[in-house]
Amino acid sequence: MKLEEVTDSSPISGVSRRDFLKFCSMMAAAMGLPGMGAQIAEAVTVQKRPPVLWLSAQECTGCTESLLRTNHPSLERLILELISLEYHETLLVGSGKQAEEWREKSMQENKGKYILVVDGSIPVKDNGIYCKIGGKTALTLLEEMASQAAAVIAIGSCASWGGIPASDPNPTGATAVHEIFKSKGIKTPCVNIPGCPPNPYNFLSTVLYFLTFKKLPELDEQARPKFAYGRLIHENCERRPHFDAGRFALQFGDDGHRKGYCLYKLGCKGPETFNNCPIQLFNDVGSGAWPVGTGGPCFGCSEMGIGFTKPIHSPASPKYFTPPSILPRIDEKRGHGLTIAGVAVAAGIAGAALGAGAVTAKKLGKDDEEQGKSGSREK
Ligand code: SF4
Repeated sequence: MKLEEVTDSSPISGVSRRDFLKFCSMMAAAMGLPGMGAQIAEAVTVQKRPPVLWLSAQECTGCTESLLRTNHPSLERLILELISLEYHETLLVGSGKQAEEWREKSMQENKGKYILVVDGSIPVKDNGIYCKIGGKTALTLLEEMASQAAAVIAIGSCASWGGIPASDPNPTGATAVHEIFKSKGIKTPCVNIPGCPPNPYNFLSTVLYFLTFKKLPELDEQARPKFAYGRLIHENCERRPHFDAGRFALQFGDDGHRKGYCLYKLGCKGPETFNNCPIQLFNDVGSGAWPVGTGGPCFGCSEMGIGFTKPIHSPASPKYFTPPSILPRIDEKRGHGLTIAGVAVAAGIAGAALGAGAVTAKKLGKDDEEQGKSGSREK
């Protein structure tokens, strides 16, 4: 379906159909599905608003705060007009017994159809007594609510792999949602959206994908959507040319730091952290609105075993080296002096080097003479 074929009015009051389609197209592009904006718009327009229940366990409300900062559309419109947020402790008008009764009623009425969002880790030590809501432990609530959900989204690093509460010595036995699923035999599909806080667009994109295609997007080995966590931060960082050229900030506030040099030597974990922060940015305020963009080294908040685990100023152990994904460097001549083997040696890691070299060679292409002979830039 083409965009112009979707002629109904926007499902969000105060948002024009055109702007709604633009928003859906933007979300589709973020998911690596260019051209699917109209299908997403159609899916969320024609169906009944999907019920969403939100369970908060050991968390700081940062995930909700981050979501409240979205603008396309703003969260209150998303709540009221795209999804039906049935239960969220922070945002509910009701509280106490009334809120818990509403949660149970909604679970019964929407059994097998609702999306459960969980933020915060689940304490399991001492039978889970360190986090209780309405007299029930978060562990009991998760078991009850997850087993009847259509899908579960573990939002934030705490829900995805333990986060801050699970840091050594982990006094409450803070545990990730998917680990609870394993121990309790819960089979509901579960996706992790780690980050501290996670980017709200990654959450919104995942919800829209599920609503449109009735399944979760493709996930990596840590159950994260590949469209958001498929590349290292280091691959798309605006400071990457300085890394490649060996220009580093050595102290906060020194000449290199003020000039925007690479933060690797200040402990930046971008080379070992998968996330799309440099591309999606935060809070809709323009370029540079992400930690490294504002001069703070990435501390690997979305990467299990790095964030809240590895000392903040310890140097990262790069997973692999690849060329920047956006454009080739401007100081290299196209096709001259570059071979796959040459880039492989420069990359310095045998396993990753061939792939990195192949991508670079493909991007830079062949020189004109070779193109003339072969008739193809891709060869
Ligand atoms: S080490 Fe950090 S600051 Fe330097 S290029 Fe990589 S992600 Fe950017």
